[in-house]
Amino acid sequence: MQNYLEYIAIIGGGIAGLTLGCTLLKEGIPVVIFEKMSEETSHGAAISLSSNALRLLDRLDIYSDLKTKSFVHSEASIQGPQKKICAFRTPEVLTTRRQTLMSLLHSRFLNLGGDICYDHALVSFDVKKCEATFSNKKKYNFKHLAACDGIRSSIRDTFFPANQNPKYSGYSAWRGIGKSALKSIHFALGPRGHVVSYPINNDGDVSFVAVRKEDFQFKESWKEPGSLNNLLDDFSTYDSSIFPQLKDGVSLYKWGIYIRPPLQSMILKNITLVGDAAHPMVPFLGQGACMAIEDAYTFAMLCKHKNRNFSDAQNIYDLIRSERTKKIQKASMLQGKIYHMKNPMLVFARNSVMKYTNIPGNDLKRIHDYDAHKEVLNFS
Ligand SMILES: Cc1cc2nc3c(=O)[nH]c(=O)nc-3n(C[C@H](O)[C@H](O)[C@H](O)COP(=O)(O)OP(=O)(O)OC[C@H]3O[C@@H](n4cnc5c(N)ncnc54)[C@H](O)[C@@H]3O)c2cc1C
Repeated sequence: MQNYLEYIAIIGGGIAGLTLGCTLLKEGIPVVIFEKMSEETSHGAAISLSSNALRLLDRLDIYSDLKTKSFVHSEASIQGPQKKICAFRTPEVLTTRRQTLMSLLHSRFLNLGGDICYDHALVSFDVKKCEATFSNKKKYNFKHLAACDGIRSSIRDTFFPANQNPKYSGYSAWRGIGKSALKSIHFALGPRGHVVSYPINNDGDVSFVAVRKEDFQFKESWKEPGSLNNLLDDFSTYDSSIFPQLKDGVSLYKWGIYIRPPLQSMILKNITLVGDAAHPMVPFLGQGACMAIEDAYTFAMLCKHKNRNFSDAQNIYDLIRSERTKKIQKASMLQGKIYHMKNPMLVFARNSVMKYTNIPGNDLKRIHDYDAHKEVLNFS
């Protein structure tokens, strides 16, 4: 049996797990990642990252490479299903292929001397012994366990208080990537749905996520294929030019969006939940990965500042991160309601606020201005 007694074990080598691994190694704290897949993979096509995450990636020396491979925005535009509503300046947002971010985090982790054990799906964890058993029958003991195992975290389901059964939100989402001349973030709003599109590089690749209210329940999977005809049917009331050019045979996916209520706590004994495992959220504000990066950075820096007293680090982590992520979970739900309004009076009021005030931009700025690095220093 390999000796990991002084290590933090990270379950899940996604955005949260790799960010946590990089930050811990950078601070000289021993860590090992266990990932159930057989290699580094990434589902979900594209992702947008705002300054609250970008400034942390910069501290991990990833930002400048990421920037050259991505699209950096300062503008967004909004329309109804057919007609333009307004355009406005946004705080810096970078959009990219999820795979680009994952590859950069992965390389950084390996360059820092990190170790990833692939084909290791966690099947059980003995809290008393801090011992994990994997599907390949291997067992290891650690000092601490960081659960970065994503939206359907088995660690959250096993160890954290019940009533967390996911509820179908009533919405499905489509995603895909095609070609278009679009050079900014574009929203097409409702009723009962919305489409967000953005370029992810300077080669004309444009990603979109299209959300709509459904009468039937859809499966929660990012890998469920859908057809172009069904997509266009679902959004037949929208101006079809909101979508990039999608050739026959292009990969399109459709899945159901589920809601999970916030947990009372993100820590338990020697387990710390990080990223989607701690606070799955609906994707309407594009902050899930940003929160995963903030969580991971915060926990690692607290471990450093508390001289590897993981229990002290956990308590402060829970205090800081529960408050921040609950706010963002709520704001994401509210954003969905704002996007999908159908009452014509409310739609008129919403469009006027967007057109004539800075309120939406200021709300976003408050979220993006958060600096997890400074927050940790306040508690050190
Ligand atoms: C359509 C859509 C669009 C989105 N757009 C954005 C966006 O624009 N901006 C943004 O910030 N966020 C966005 N998000 C959210 C974002 O993708 C997630 O919040 C983010 O991926 C969470 O990272 P994570 O590491 O916590 O989980 P994941 O990325 O899901 O990683 C979990 C990892 O754990 C592994 N794993 C699971 N179980 C086990 C096990 N038992 N043993 C070992 N390994 C295991 C998995 O294989 C995986 O590698 C979007 C989400 C969706 C659905």
